[in-house]
Amino acid sequence: MGRIRVNNPLNRCIVGGIIKAVCACGFETDFMGGSGRQNVDEVCYAPALCPACKIFLVENYMKENPVCPKCDAAIMFYDSSALQAGRNDRQTPAEENIAAPGLFILPRTSCFCPKCEKMTMKFIHTGCWG
Ligand SMILES: [Zn+2]
Ligand SMILES: [Zn+2]
Repeated sequence: MGRIRVNNPLNRCIVGGIIKAVCACGFETDFMGGSGRQNVDEVCYAPALCPACKIFLVENYMKENPVCPKCDAAIMFYDSSALQAGRNDRQTPAEENIAAPGLFILPRTSCFCPKCEKMTMKFIHTGCWG
């Protein structure tokens, strides 16, 4: 599948990005995305949502059929268009060409907030790890 990483111009890290998810309602959480020093073909931490519990999760994007640790329901990763307010319209055609199949792309458009349940949550890249 090739090299997997949280690949976004907001996230210029090779192996892992420190990401903040933040919403106007007060929801805020920091997490480490990507692979760090682990095998990029096996590990890529990415933001996700349990649609049943409405909780924010950080799960391994490379895992087959990841489920919610609370309720066992299938989770959705935030690269799903269902969790995004609109097209990732700040992504340029060149960036789209870089995005290989299986690659997690951190959305730059507003996303579904697990707290207020509006499409007003944003991801901000704050640093690198790994
Ligand atoms: Zn759940
Ligand atoms: Zn919110």
